[in-house]
Amino acid sequence: MSDYPIPPFKPQQQSVPGDQSKMEPYPDCGEASYKGSGRLTNKIALITGGDSGIGRAVAIAFAREGADVAISYLDEHQDAKETASWVEEAGRQCILLPGDLADKAHCSAIVDATVEKFGRIDVLVNNAAFQMTHETLEEIPDEEWVKTFDINITAMFRICKAALPSMRAGSSIINTSSVNSDSPKPTLLPYATTKGAIANFTAGLAQMLGPRGIRVNSVAPGPIWTPLIVSTMPEEDVKTFGEETPLGRPGQPVEVAPIYVLLASDEGSYISGSRYAVAADRKLTQ
Ligand code: NAD
Ligand code: MG
Repeated sequence: MSDYPIPPFKPQQQSVPGDQSKMEPYPDCGEASYKGSGRLTNKIALITGGDSGIGRAVAIAFAREGADVAISYLDEHQDAKETASWVEEAGRQCILLPGDLADKAHCSAIVDATVEKFGRIDVLVNNAAFQMTHETLEEIPDEEWVKTFDINITAMFRICKAALPSMRAGSSIINTSSVNSDSPKPTLLPYATTKGAIANFTAGLAQMLGPRGIRVNSVAPGPIWTPLIVSTMPEEDVKTFGEETPLGRPGQPVEVAPIYVLLASDEGSYISGSRYAVAADRKLTQ
């Protein structure tokens, strides 16, 4: 049994994209616990949304496994600096790449900056995302629908395309989807639809890139305690977040990181085209 926090949580609300340092309890990204064992020695990773939450846990784990890390994020400079300091504390290099992935030019700019600094990309983690809660279809603005697709799936296509010339055989692409990819929460309709698209895109791209020796997988987390939650979900849902799972609590970001390490590592050499559900699914009765 773990002693990770269980609901009820203190009701809390932040504006998008959220500030991890203001969350109570503070999400556990493995800062004090993750132990590396040389599984990613000298690999180069680009992680979108690497400032906080799952992306930060992945950045810390990758660095402790021996990788240098480039981190793309929107504008949470404090969160990003903290992640960078953990990467550097692990003896690895980190570059920070703020900016909006809804902008086509920025998608190629983060790839260019990573390749300029490190020379290539071995692991591409497409993890940034936007979501917002709406009770009815009428309530969803057209612009928000398009924006959600731009950030969550179109940016993923653009970054993969831009990164490909700098990825050699043995490289790995890991796309964060969600439990919503096959079990959509209706109040997250645009988001859930993009997550289904990500799972499908991943399965197709894996076949396309297999002959080049590049593996592509998606990770589908259940409820994880991150800034995305407290900045986009109503307070009453935050309070009970993760309750409707077999373990009765949300996962902490550190609990998701090991699957990214496996998929990034050479030990994962036969894993491609897969969708990895991590943490508990919603109860089937829901
Ligand atoms: P998070 O808020 O810590 O990370 C999301 C990051 O995306 C942010 O830090 C932000 O910098 C980045 N981002 C958002 N909009 C952006 C934009 N326009 N341009 C550039 N970057 C942008 O939250 P998280 O929960 O760790 O999210 C990481 C991934 O995990 C997302 O893909 C999310 O959909 C997925 N996920 C989360 C949960 C959960 O319960 N938290 C469950 C399933 C899947
Ligand atoms: Mg953030």
